[in-house]
Amino acid sequence: MKAIRRFTVRTVLPESLAALDELAGNLRWSWHEPTRELFDYIDSELWEKTNDPVSLLGAVNPERIDALAADESFVRRAGQLRDDLRRYVSEPRWYQSVTDAPSSIAYFSPEFGIAAALPQYSGGLGILAGDHLKSASDLGVPLLGVGLFYRSGYFKQSISADGWQQEAYPVLDPDGLPLSVLRGADGAPVQVALALPTGTLFARIWQADVGRVKLLLLDTDIPENEEALRSVTDRLYGGGGEHRLLQELLLGIGGVRAIKAYVELTGTRFPKVFHTNEGHAGFLGLERISDLVAGHGLSFDEALQVVRAGTVFTTHTPVPAGIDRFESTLVDTYFSTDLLPGVDAPDVLALGAEDYPGGNPAVFNMAVMGLRLSQHANGVSKLHGSVSRGMFGGLWPGFDNADVPITSVTNGVHTPTWTDPILQRLAADKLGTYDTSRADWSSKSVTDAELWDVRRDMRQQLVEDARRRIRSSWKSQNPGSVVPTWVDEVLDPEVLTIGFARRVPTYKRLTLMLHDEDRLRAILTSKKRPVQLVIAGKSHPADDEGKRLIQKLVQFTQDPSVRGRIVFLPNYDIAMAQVLYPGTDVWLNNPLRPLEACGTSGMKAALNGALNLSILDGWWDEFYDGENGWAIPSSDAAGDADERDALEANALYDLIEHQVAPRFYDRDKDGVPKRWLKSIRHTLSTLSPALSADRMVKQYVENLYTPAGRAASVIAEDDYAAGRELAAWKRHVDGAWNGVHVLHVESGGLAAVPRIGDELHVRAQVQLGGLSVDDVSVEVVYGRSLEGDTLTGTMLVELVPLSEDGGDAHAADGSITFAGTVTLTSPGSFGYNVRVVPKNPYLSSPAELGLIAVAQ
Ligand SMILES: *Cc1c(COP(=O)(O)O)cnc(C)c1O
Repeated sequence: MKAIRRFTVRTVLPESLAALDELAGNLRWSWHEPTRELFDYIDSELWEKTNDPVSLLGAVNPERIDALAADESFVRRAGQLRDDLRRYVSEPRWYQSVTDAPSSIAYFSPEFGIAAALPQYSGGLGILAGDHLKSASDLGVPLLGVGLFYRSGYFKQSISADGWQQEAYPVLDPDGLPLSVLRGADGAPVQVALALPTGTLFARIWQADVGRVKLLLLDTDIPENEEALRSVTDRLYGGGGEHRLLQELLLGIGGVRAIKAYVELTGTRFPKVFHTNEGHAGFLGLERISDLVAGHGLSFDEALQVVRAGTVFTTHTPVPAGIDRFESTLVDTYFSTDLLPGVDAPDVLALGAEDYPGGNPAVFNMAVMGLRLSQHANGVSKLHGSVSRGMFGGLWPGFDNADVPITSVTNGVHTPTWTDPILQRLAADKLGTYDTSRADWSSKSVTDAELWDVRRDMRQQLVEDARRRIRSSWKSQNPGSVVPTWVDEVLDPEVLTIGFARRVPTYKRLTLMLHDEDRLRAILTSKKRPVQLVIAGKSHPADDEGKRLIQKLVQFTQDPSVRGRIVFLPNYDIAMAQVLYPGTDVWLNNPLRPLEACGTSGMKAALNGALNLSILDGWWDEFYDGENGWAIPSSDAAGDADERDALEANALYDLIEHQVAPRFYDRDKDGVPKRWLKSIRHTLSTLSPALSADRMVKQYVENLYTPAGRAASVIAEDDYAAGRELAAWKRHVDGAWNGVHVLHVESGGLAAVPRIGDELHVRAQVQLGGLSVDDVSVEVVYGRSLEGDTLTGTMLVELVPLSEDGGDAHAADGSITFAGTVTLTSPGSFGYNVRVVPKNPYLSSPAELGLIAVAQ
């Protein structure tokens, strides 16, 4: 019989064990090994099964609880860990020594992957958000997370006997999760409300404690809602169109309302900076505009300047299908109501309009709105930053890629979450720190044999986990039958293990490895240097193409000649990932370059000493150094997709056969692969610190949150005086820009053969169309001029208007002459041009208005 409702009855713990409730109530246990060991001690078998203190405490038998309550040393240990947690959440940390950093930052994301016990994520974006919160907590960053609570999370994947993905949506019981309802002073649950055309949408607010970071999750599954509206937060990325729009309205607008309620209740500070993790939460900016219009009498445009100043937008994908787009008419319907007082639908539509060449006029684009609502934007690796500047460059027409105001912060991963405890213990025992990103891995204190043993243990652990998963999958595919013995013997703990796990959109090319099945079979079953592959990944439920790829792969793994060497593990999630990454020797990634914005699974593998074998895309393009793994050459220039796949697949096989496997199996007399270990040590020493989410969060703080906080403060002074001024100025400049031209440029001062150190004098005659010389910056842009006329490595020198004394600043035609000097500092080809751009102290980039005039 299936249950139609489920709920969890919590154990009442004796007074002496009260510390356990506190430890279970803060998700810090998910990355704090000593706390995990405490729960493991309570009931190891249950812990292994639940991996969640709340469920564990709900299920452990009462005699065991009594015994623990009487066990003095256990009670003491629990008390110490609780004290440690209290210290952790209150003591000054890194952020408390940063000057000028904002007092509070809101972080919005459609998904958060924090722990297996809280399945509110689908993949990389959510895990990244979880890691962001955890590192923010470790660093003391005053972050407030905002998301949705999905009754069924994403979906649980199983695979049918013929290899087809099946989805199940088990209903979560929030009472059984590490969450509590936000209640008002009267004890009643706090609710936010959104006035929709069809009625009011209500949501309650769950709170989770992620170390010192609070996470608020909005949930519409409450009796106050009409039946149809209760299911707004039913699933993550479940529905399309309108359902998705409703979720995003709730996340953005409802999210800001939840913050206001939370701030009022707790007396904490209202965030100065808002960070939106991908476009889904973009409506948050509109709620804040509405508040400024209603509360401070600002116009829409003035409020827009204020909101932009304090907003950070992170774009996460160059794949068009990954970007949210709605029908404009649908968005119009929702904003032509009382949803946001003071905000008119046409103003909203203009923010998301694709009004650039190649755009679709019928579409409302959430990423485009995200960029227009934020003064600070970034991609998630250096390469992705550049790709994004190209992709969104149409919003700043006329500017070079390098000038498009989208920077990059390369993703990172939370070290304690993603480093196997076995490796952490080795670091603690031999190198004096649990923190593997700080340990000195070149030290002789850890011998090659010891490090290799740990790598073998982690591989063994993966093999056992994989066998368990295959067995249980086989059982559900063949109910009532006896599990055949080969299932218990899949994979070999001594064989070179390659891991490959990710979502299954086409660009990630799950099945590239199957390009030449015979060749792959030969690699797997080689007598001398066998290889095994562990694969996992979910396809979006609506993506049949992805499901076909999974099926093709699963069917290959069913072939008796290879089934011991290649497995597909169903239901890729955090719990699997935490065993999979450490257990692989090599992490494989073969996306179509440059569509992988960053990729983080390879980072997590590297933290555990796995070497990467990947296309030079995302983070690997930035970090591959010849010693930490291998680069699969991209064949961008191939004639078509098939040819490209063929070239890249063959390069992959070549690398495995001729480089990866020989190095792995090159052993000394004790069976230790010295050369391989050299690469592992190098990987751990160099990549662990560089790839940590601590590095990432610090960069967000220094390069984005701090400037955004400063801009937000300045623009808010004197009842938003600067916001009002900036809006008026932008309108003025925008209106006059058609009259701005560079009429004439002349230069002099150079000898016939210029040398380094020589000075080039430039004069430009400029028409300002009624703007003043203070409204613009007239600049010489110079750099190398190679093929074509494109300048690279450009630098700027601002020209100054010639003074009245100098004679001819203002010509009879109203034009003005600007002049300045460039000193030649490097040899080789040299080129320059002159440009005019708007200038204002409140702009974060000269490209901000998308206005430029260049000498022709
Ligand atoms: C890290 C992670 C991902 C994202 O990996 P990518 O390399 O970005 O594809 C997806 N799912 C899980 C469970 C992860 O841990």
